[in-house]
Amino acid sequence: MTAEAELVAPGAHLERVWTGGSWGEGPVWLPQTQSLRWSEIPGNRIYEYDSLSGRTRVHRQNVEFTNGRTLDLAGRVVQCSHGRRCVEVEIDGEPATLVDHWREHRLNSPNDVVVASDAAIWFTDPPYGITEPDEGHPGSMEYGGCWVFRYQPESATLEPAITDLQRPNGLAFSPDESLLYVSDTVDTARGLIRVYDVSHTTASNGRDFATVLPGCSDGFRVDVAGRIWTSSLDSVQVLSPQGRLVARIPVPEKVSNLCFGGPDGTDLYVTASTSLYRIRTLTTDATWARTAAGKTS
Ligand code: MG
Repeated sequence: MTAEAELVAPGAHLERVWTGGSWGEGPVWLPQTQSLRWSEIPGNRIYEYDSLSGRTRVHRQNVEFTNGRTLDLAGRVVQCSHGRRCVEVEIDGEPATLVDHWREHRLNSPNDVVVASDAAIWFTDPPYGITEPDEGHPGSMEYGGCWVFRYQPESATLEPAITDLQRPNGLAFSPDESLLYVSDTVDTARGLIRVYDVSHTTASNGRDFATVLPGCSDGFRVDVAGRIWTSSLDSVQVLSPQGRLVARIPVPEKVSNLCFGGPDGTDLYVTASTSLYRIRTLTTDATWARTAAGKTS
């Protein structure tokens, strides 16, 4: 087992940087402002923590139940909206819908999103925003499944990429983007992560990668060494590229999601039931170089 000391900075401890929310999700680091933005889904608002001042403020309210978010290649925020049943991009501070239909069918409620180095947007589409009263608006599953989609912004084309999961949720690429990890949160007691081979526009050969206990693996990120840093009921768990548990960082609340940030990308920010946590690590996100580059573009 890799020593936890190799992953967490010497003397580092989990710090609660803000509390008072209800089910935080969708954290993303914004290099331009050195701040951390995240969703409070039931509160229907977006928070922003300014790491320079240490203050947290409401970024926007009545946001149609945003969930997961990331940055695109230009450094713009791309996020999922349960209420609008779409993936949207923030332009001049306003959300603009990128995609909300597959053929004539509305999407369910996009949950989490990643952007590949070819600018394609991959996202999961479980139904929580149309089945959970405090996470969106009641609705029906119009295309009859819960898929992972690939959206190509340049051509505005949307294609199903993965159709064999029940509740696809968190997702992230391996550092070379040859693999896509996707969690299935159909069983909240056992966090299942599946892995797929990626070849340009397709994902195939799905197989079980790891089971996270106690579940579930709602959100996760991959570091530069290919390790998976995932949420669980009581901790952040770090899995080796082979799927073995190599470290565990206890968190005193249910963990929903996480992301790397900070000046050099080594601060791990963790959204949990009511709070935002941070711990200094010795690694960073596999996409950190790209994210930092977005700072100036
Ligand atoms: Mg999620």
